[in-house]
Amino acid sequence: MKPSFKEVTDELEYGAAAFHDKMLQSVYLILERYSHDCTRLMDILLDVQGEFGYIPPSITMEISKKLNVSVVDIRQTISFYHFFREHPVGKFTVYLNNSVVAKMNGRDDVAKTFEHEVGCKIGETCPDGLISLFETSCIGMSDQEPAAIINGMIFTKLTPFRVKEIVRDIKAGKSLNDIIVEGAGDGSNAFPEINSMVQNNVRKKGPILADGYKPGEALKKIVKMSPEAVIAEVKASNIRGRGGAGFPTGMKWAICRAAQSDKKYIFCNADEGEPGTFKDRVILTERPKVLMEGMAIAGYAIGATEGILYVRHEYKYLEQHLKNIIEGGRKKNYLGKNICGKEGFDFDIRIQFGAGAYVCGEESALIESAEGKRGEPRDRPPFPVESGYLGKPTIVNNVETLCNVVKIVLHGAEWFKTLGTKESSGTKILSVSGDCRYPGIYEIEWGFSVNDVLEMVGATDVQAVQVGGPSGTLIAPNEFHRTLSYTDLSTGGSLIIFNSTRDLLKDVVMNFTNFFIDESCGSCSTCRNIPIHLRTKLEKILNARGVAKDVTDMLEWAKILKASRCGLGQTAANPIVSSIKNFRHLYDQKIQHGKDFDSNFDLLSAVRESCDAVGRVPQLH
Ligand code: SF4
Repeated sequence: MKPSFKEVTDELEYGAAAFHDKMLQSVYLILERYSHDCTRLMDILLDVQGEFGYIPPSITMEISKKLNVSVVDIRQTISFYHFFREHPVGKFTVYLNNSVVAKMNGRDDVAKTFEHEVGCKIGETCPDGLISLFETSCIGMSDQEPAAIINGMIFTKLTPFRVKEIVRDIKAGKSLNDIIVEGAGDGSNAFPEINSMVQNNVRKKGPILADGYKPGEALKKIVKMSPEAVIAEVKASNIRGRGGAGFPTGMKWAICRAAQSDKKYIFCNADEGEPGTFKDRVILTERPKVLMEGMAIAGYAIGATEGILYVRHEYKYLEQHLKNIIEGGRKKNYLGKNICGKEGFDFDIRIQFGAGAYVCGEESALIESAEGKRGEPRDRPPFPVESGYLGKPTIVNNVETLCNVVKIVLHGAEWFKTLGTKESSGTKILSVSGDCRYPGIYEIEWGFSVNDVLEMVGATDVQAVQVGGPSGTLIAPNEFHRTLSYTDLSTGGSLIIFNSTRDLLKDVVMNFTNFFIDESCGSCSTCRNIPIHLRTKLEKILNARGVAKDVTDMLEWAKILKASRCGLGQTAANPIVSSIKNFRHLYDQKIQHGKDFDSNFDLLSAVRESCDAVGRVPQLH
């Protein structure tokens, strides 16, 4: 019988050898499940943690021996991801989101109530070991914040009252399923295999979200076409990647098709970690068959036999649902061998879960992660289309991009180009959150203005809109006439709205800056250091100690950040830069004017901490 979590931790503490052996047997089964393949280390670690609640160091050593990988390498991977743990935690783990939208909706009161009711601070475990509290970045629930993940299950729209109920029920021994069924969400969220209280909040449907989709129809069409003809159709549609970068999808496929290799891979990037973004969550919940079909079409086009659906750890509650869809696809022969009767069209999909790292949304970091390593972006070239997963040509496409491909195949490139604008064809699914009446998902044609969207979502008294998440831009009302398109305001889909009651610098810009600091992989000195200095400057300004030079310094340092290796570092200063550009008056209100430096600098308090640490009396003369 599988040992209980408490038994495991107790026995480990007391070092019972027999019990340890029992644990090892479980680990050996896990290793066998992945054929002792070290590139499946993420899955192995996720399963070990799922079994024991954490990854004991003694088990790491055993995995190291069995996989012939150094302990250091394994610990590098473990330490990189937010959700891996090397120490025992409570039987229930609460990960409370600290995103800007969560805070706007009362997250701090919710956090205090958790601390009070559980009896420990965030980052600690309560004395009886029942509950541990943690905080985490955006969990993809910005339309229903504050939200938390408790033992993998999502709890939304939390209030102090609701928190008291949850903690009371946990202490009373109720199961999380029982606690959650009091309010199951809509659509597939209410399926037994999901059983989640998440709401889809689909407010406007377009071709992707529309009802009436017939699974397999697009596949039956492409098997009568050559792979080159499929690529030509995708190229002709002018579709560009929906993840944010906007690279032409058809061109990417053509390059990969031309690459010479015995094996190629399709990755679907469902690691949407940009705070304020949650459209993939809804597609994975309500339109996973469209997505799987899109992956199979991509596989046919480039000549790949394996697809990997990389899903962020926060959406692990969808695991069984997605597995069922894949299994159903195999039964219908939409996945597997000789798909739709086409000799040699073999393609199958496996799911790869992440373990909590925003940077894994970058395609080469995502590939590294799927190979069992730290999700650190690679130097490029070579690009993944030439040398990606396991060194083979690999396509990484966004969830929405692959769904669009299905519609292009079904209705044709010309139809697709009738949607949107000349340069930005098709639709875009927006994730709208913040200060508005109807937060949720909107599938609109490219070319709508920000004003159009604000009207649609019921937003009034709007001070600012963050377009494209923290790495995007913070715009003021004088730019609300601008259009959402690749040629004007390009976005991966997130729009966060702030009304005039919000303190943009303190609540928004500082939150985003902290987010980038937390999420940097630390590989580049620019990205590792400069955001911390930017935060110090911002704090100084918020504390009314800043001068004009602090603002110009931040703009100069932001230029150096552009030399970072990947998009995270390159955009980490965007919240500060765009707020200086569009809300300069907020900085001017805070800084000291007519001074070149801060004359109120308190040297004594600045050195107090270091003096205390070494037991030195400060000498300030
Ligand atoms: Fe890592 Fe930042 Fe460099 Fe990207 S820019 S590779 S996140 S340190």
